[in-house]
Amino acid sequence: MAQDLRDFREPIDLHTHSSISDGTESPDELMRAAAGAGVGTVALTDHDSSAGWAAAAEAASELGITFIPGMELSTRYGWKSVHMLAYLFDPTDEPLNAELARIREGRRSRAETMVSRLAVDYDLSWDDVAAHTAPGATVGRPHIADALVARGVVPDRSAAFATLLHPRGGYYEPIYAPTPLDGVRLIRGAGGVPVLAHPATRGREGIIQDVYLGRLVDSGLAGLELDHRDNTEDGKTALRERADRYGLILTGSSDYHGAGKPNRLGENTTAPESLERILDESAYLARTA
Ligand code: AMP
Ligand code: FE
Ligand code: FE
Ligand code: ZN
Repeated sequence: MAQDLRDFREPIDLHTHSSISDGTESPDELMRAAAGAGVGTVALTDHDSSAGWAAAAEAASELGITFIPGMELSTRYGWKSVHMLAYLFDPTDEPLNAELARIREGRRSRAETMVSRLAVDYDLSWDDVAAHTAPGATVGRPHIADALVARGVVPDRSAAFATLLHPRGGYYEPIYAPTPLDGVRLIRGAGGVPVLAHPATRGREGIIQDVYLGRLVDSGLAGLELDHRDNTEDGKTALRERADRYGLILTGSSDYHGAGKPNRLGENTTAPESLERILDESAYLARTA
């Protein structure tokens, strides 16, 4: 890594999305937005892809901000979708890339299934969705939402998620994803540092129930994303308690998606001590430094 990550700048925002997944800005536009918002260190954490790293790293170094390579891995715990942030892993790791290809492929056919169901009732085609998806991007419900907005079916992404794209909206299809335990193992296997994303949002609290969290920690889970706008206050209290008990790193971040969500860059931040611990735990960084 060209940049010495130990000289990172503050404030630190460790969770953002570009058009490589469901954000609305390209990786370099995102870095420019971060610099403009006064963020000193930014992690790019697109869903199930590291394809934005090179462009983001180049833009960040021109802008004088610190770039942390990351990803948000899709996993599933029973019927619940569980997002796992992964930092500083080897982007060429074969077992991880094989699983990522499988997830992205599954996401594509799942999106096609949902679009064919929607097309029965609405004027919507796969071409509409493709027009809102950057080439090679990880496809998700947000891209279907954008196509529905463009067709005038719903006013914005949030309205689409509250109605047609909701799991109980009548058109939903789940995605293929590994279990959280397999996710932790894959990320550690690639030398990366796994941190559970927004683990205390309404309906997702099951993941931090003790037995399963203990198993994730035993397999290498490194941290919990504490300061995130979707975590409930009661949930945050539980997260602090779990972090104390298991010695986990606590992070905070925006989960910025450009114009796709109201979340603003730097609205939540990570303490420098937490980022130092993440850097310490990356076997990939230790190998390449
Ligand atoms: P998917 O992984 O394809 O099922 O879609 C989930 C993604 O949709 C998440 O990564 C969120 O970023 C995004 N999302 C969820 N709820 C909303 C919402 N209300 N408004 C905009 N985006 C959302
Ligand atoms: Fe997203
Ligand atoms: Fe997420
Ligand atoms: Zn996210």
